[in-house]
Amino acid sequence: MAIAVDVEGVTKFYGKTAALENVSFSIDAGSALGLVGPNGAGKSTLLKMLLGLMRPTRGAIYYNGQPLWPDPASAMRQVGGFVDTPRFYPYLTGRENLMMLAELTHGSARRVDEALHYVHLDGAAEQRVGGYSHGMRQRLGIAAALMKRPGLIILDEPEDGLDPARLAEMRQLLGRVRQEYGSTLIMSSHVISDIERLCDRIAVFDNGRIRYVGPVNTLGSRIPEEILWELWPVERGLRYLRNLGLDARPAGEGRIAAVWDGSLDLGQVNAALMREGLAVRTVMRRTASLESRLLAYLEDSHVDVR
Ligand code: ADP
Repeated sequence: MAIAVDVEGVTKFYGKTAALENVSFSIDAGSALGLVGPNGAGKSTLLKMLLGLMRPTRGAIYYNGQPLWPDPASAMRQVGGFVDTPRFYPYLTGRENLMMLAELTHGSARRVDEALHYVHLDGAAEQRVGGYSHGMRQRLGIAAALMKRPGLIILDEPEDGLDPARLAEMRQLLGRVRQEYGSTLIMSSHVISDIERLCDRIAVFDNGRIRYVGPVNTLGSRIPEEILWELWPVERGLRYLRNLGLDARPAGEGRIAAVWDGSLDLGQVNAALMREGLAVRTVMRRTASLESRLLAYLEDSHVDVR
């Protein structure tokens, strides 16, 4: 059964440092939430608490209305996932590692085979985990999570360190897991396009606080488009566009990107750039990616919007 999650006023101190401050949000059963934000923002700290590995200093976490503490172990029977990289015994095979977990969680050998098959590790099941590639270990971590047929899956940057081909595989795997198991999913990721693809909602963390939590597509929706100029010289172009009041920034390879709210006439801006003696090679209009909306959002807003 999918698990609904409520996080209420959670604060976590490491010594005197607050890693999370008064974080609250709710997730409906069966939906998927993506956590994003700079390193050190508090995402892993939250995930560890959701996995019952650490207790909040203040506040509470509820799974289907039941408080996680004082007995996280019972709730964890229905929760699968890992923080950082999944850890296994390197001298045991993939199957042996999962069999040990199955014994601990009262799972069956059949579930172990099922999970190995699901993540395409059947062929490597009898190899020692010490010889597994990083991607294989990540997949074994997901298999371990799936063995419980979890109502909630928690993953901390599951794509971390994967090359593009493995990344595509991981993406597919996570999409399939969501579709077939219907579990609630909470994952952190630096791959913003994965959050866009796999999650319904997004929580933006910054400096221990949630700055935004809501649907992916309404995050910064007041920034509908951006314009990308390829021009020379970039420095002078930037200065000129900023003088026009545009939020222009270098976008690499001789390009400038600016958030476009439609208040200026693009034809007139381009004509003016050329009159200024700037060599404009190309002009492109594009919908702002979630990544740039996120950046603009984090730069713009210094208020807690919850
Ligand atoms: P993220 O996952 O977003 O990168 P973390 O949750 O790992 O962020 O870290 C949040 C803050 O807590 C950071 O300032 C980090 O340095 C600090 N922190 C994390 N783990 C510990 C720990 N075990 N001891 C002390 N400080 C920690």
